[in-house]
Amino acid sequence: MIRSVCVFCGSAPGARPSYSRAAEEMGVALAKSGLTLVYGGGKLGLMGIVADSVLKAGGRVVGVIPRMLIERECAHPSLTTQHVVTTMHERKTLMADMSDAFVGLPGGMGTFDELVEIITWAQLGLHAKPVILANVESYFEPLYGMLDHAVKEGFVTSESRARWRNADSVASVMRILSKEGLTGEGSP
Ligand code: AMP
Repeated sequence: MIRSVCVFCGSAPGARPSYSRAAEEMGVALAKSGLTLVYGGGKLGLMGIVADSVLKAGGRVVGVIPRMLIERECAHPSLTTQHVVTTMHERKTLMADMSDAFVGLPGGMGTFDELVEIITWAQLGLHAKPVILANVESYFEPLYGMLDHAVKEGFVTSESRARWRNADSVASVMRILSKEGLTGEGSP
């Protein structure tokens, strides 16, 4: 059952307004479903937009930010809970432990790193939580192309490739999450 959803996304807003709109839509959808947002705790870019939109819609937001990034990523001052940790690895571990599902929105290196790592943890059997990419503006198509290439060339199994679940829109992300079962009782 899903109570808390970790969103990985850019600390930049990206080049198109549709990225910000999707981040806002994601936040509203999580709040309306009673799901707690878990994220990197900053105020910048799409990360800040998702958090603000959950809070504005009356939902709960849990941030996890390393001390060294408090200034650089503008730690959000008004989250339901903000965990300050020491290292990037602690951040990822805590975010993963507190979440029942993972959603990727468009983002950069940090987003790629987080998505790949969470998939590799699933591949190693460390968790069986869903990972869903919101393919806004077909942003993830080149990544899917690389993954398919890696399968064709024998470096990634089809089973591992299938862990990257695609959603064409935020509504489609929510449909996939609903199928997993939502409790809407997530607590920070
Ligand atoms: P980006 O997608 O590059 O804008 O980064 C999104 C978020 O990922 C930011 O909060 C970064 O601090 C975070 N991030 C970047 N690299 C890592 C990493 N190696 N481990 C954990 N988080 C990271």
